[in-house]
Amino acid sequence: SETPRTHFIHQIIETDLASGRCQRIVTRFPPEPNGYLHIGHAKSIVLNFGLAETFGGVCNLRFDDTNPHKENIEYVEAIKRDVRWLGYDWGERLYFASDYFEQLYQFAIELIHKGLAYVCDLSVEEVRAYRGTLTEPGRNSPWRDRSVEENLDLFQRMRAGEFPDGSRTLRAKIDMASPNINLRDPVLYRIKHGVIHHQTGDAWCLYPTYDYTHPISDALEGVTHSLCTLEFEDHRPLYDWVIEHVSVPSRPRQYEFSRLNLEYTVMSKRRLTELVDEGHVKGWDDPRLPTLAGLRRRGYTPCAIRTFCERIGITKSEGRVEMAMLENAIREDLDATAPRRLAVFYPLKVVLVNYPEERLEWLELSNHPKDPAQGTRRLSFGRVLYIDRRDFEEHPPKGFKRLTPGGEVRLRGAYVIRADELIKDDSGEISELRCSVDLDTLGKDPQGRKVKGVIQWVSAAHTIPAEIRLYDRLFRVPVPGADGDWRADLNPHALKVIHNALVEPSLAQVEVGERFQFEREGYFTVDPDSTPTRPVFNLTVGLRDTWGR
Ligand code: ATP
Ligand code: MG
Ligand code: MG
Repeated sequence: SETPRTHFIHQIIETDLASGRCQRIVTRFPPEPNGYLHIGHAKSIVLNFGLAETFGGVCNLRFDDTNPHKENIEYVEAIKRDVRWLGYDWGERLYFASDYFEQLYQFAIELIHKGLAYVCDLSVEEVRAYRGTLTEPGRNSPWRDRSVEENLDLFQRMRAGEFPDGSRTLRAKIDMASPNINLRDPVLYRIKHGVIHHQTGDAWCLYPTYDYTHPISDALEGVTHSLCTLEFEDHRPLYDWVIEHVSVPSRPRQYEFSRLNLEYTVMSKRRLTELVDEGHVKGWDDPRLPTLAGLRRRGYTPCAIRTFCERIGITKSEGRVEMAMLENAIREDLDATAPRRLAVFYPLKVVLVNYPEERLEWLELSNHPKDPAQGTRRLSFGRVLYIDRRDFEEHPPKGFKRLTPGGEVRLRGAYVIRADELIKDDSGEISELRCSVDLDTLGKDPQGRKVKGVIQWVSAAHTIPAEIRLYDRLFRVPVPGADGDWRADLNPHALKVIHNALVEPSLAQVEVGERFQFEREGYFTVDPDSTPTRPVFNLTVGLRDTWGR
C-alpha cells in the first residue's frame, strides 16, 4: 500500500507529541457488535491502526457493547476476523465496554454524590417532550432536585432490579436550556430486563448509554485520540463533561472526521441488516454487499481496501465517493498480481477440419505478461475446441475484429484459425463451426496477411465445467432511497449466473479465494460454493471501467 498522506488528525498528533501532551499515542477502533463491518468501518480501522503504526503507538479493539438486544457473539467473531483480514493486529489490546460496567456504575455514584446526576421518573416520551427543540429551551424534570440520598437509594434499587423497564432513568444534571440538546440532562442509564448480554449474561438490568460509556472507556484504556465520525461533533461537549466530572485516570480527546459514503450502495448497519433479513441478498458475505466479508468473497484484497482508504483521505467534508475509486484500487492490485487464465463463458464448438483426429499437443502459456516470475502453465490443443459464442458473428457489424464466416482470428497462445462453414441446429442457432487451422502460426504472424483479433478458447479434451457469477452494482442509482424507498432502487441484475461455462484445465484444483484474470473478461475469484468437480467463480471487477457506457 501507499505512503499514508498527512491530514488534520495526523497534524494534531504531531503537535501533541511535540508538545508532550502525550508520550505515545493510543487510538481505538470501537465497533458495536450488532452487524458485520463494512467498507466505511475499514476507513476507521485504517485510520486508527494506521496512525498507531505511523507514530509508534498502539490501537485497541474495543467492542462497544452497551445495547445487548441487538448484539451477539457471532458479530464479535466476524468483526475480529475482518479486522485481522485487513492486516491489523490488536495483540493483547482487546476490550469490551461491558468490562467496565462495574466501574461505570461507580462513576455514576460519584456523579450522584457531586449532585451531577439524578434518577428521573419521566417516561421516554416525557423525557423527549421536556427536552425542547433547536429553537426552544427544554424544561427541568420534576425529579431534578431529588436529594443525593434518595438518588443513591433509587439508583441502587434500579440495579437490584426493583423497577420495570422504562420506569426510571439516571440522567446527568447539566443544563436544560443549553443550545446543545445533548447537554439537556442526557440519559446515562436505562433499565432493560430480560436480555442476556453476550459478555455479562444476566448480571445487569441497568445499561449505560453510549455517550456516558464511550469517554470513560477511552479514559480507562488511556486512549489519547478518540476518533469518530462527524455526527458525534455535537456530542463532544458531553464527552468532555463526563471526563471532567468523574475521576478517570486520563484525559482523552475526541476528534471527528467525515464518514465514508459510497455511490450505488448503502452502508448503515440498519440497511445492511434489512437487506440480509429480507432476503435481498444471500447473507452478510454476499459479494454484492459492501461488507468486508462480502468484498472478501467478491475477491477484494486487504491491500486494495487499505489503498482505497488511504486515497480517499481524512477530512471534515461530507460527500459520496465514486464506486470507480474502489474498483480502480482492486483492478490495479489484480492487474499486477493475478495469473491469467482462459475461460469460455458461452461455449460454441469448433472443429478444426485439417487437424488430425488423434493428435493432441500441450501448449505453454505464460501466467502473467508482465511478470515472468509467475511462470507458465500448459493447455491442451486438439481437433475439437470451444470458443465463446460472442466471438463469432455471422453478419458482423463494421469493425468487428473477431471470427466471421471466411475470416481469421488468433486463438490466444495458439494458432490462427479460419471459419469455413457454420452448422445450425433445427432452431436455426449455430451449433458448430468448421474451421481450418494454420499450423505455421504458433508464436508468429501468418504469412502475407494480418490477423487482428485474439480470442480465448479451451480444448474439448481437457476442460472443466464451471459456474460464473457476474456481479453488478447493488443499486441502480448513486444515492439509494433519495426519492422514496431504497428497495425500489435495488438493481435486479446485480447478480447474473452463467451455469455452463468452460475453463482451462489448469483450474482443476483451485482453492477458495484464489484470484485470476480471465482474459478479455475480468478478474475472478473462487467462491466457497465450489465443488471439487465444478468450481464457481465470482467476478471481482471488470478489466476496465465500462460501467454506464
Ligand atoms: P452504522 O451507522 O453503519 O451502523 P456505526 O457508527 O453505528 O455504523 P459502529 O460499529 O459504532 O457503527 O462503528 C465503529 C466505528 O466505525 C465508529 O468509530 C464509527 O464512527 C466508524 N464508522 C462507522 N461507519 C463509518 C463510515 N461509513 N465511515 C467511517 N467510519 C465509520
Ligand atoms: Mg456506533
Ligand atoms: Mg449504528
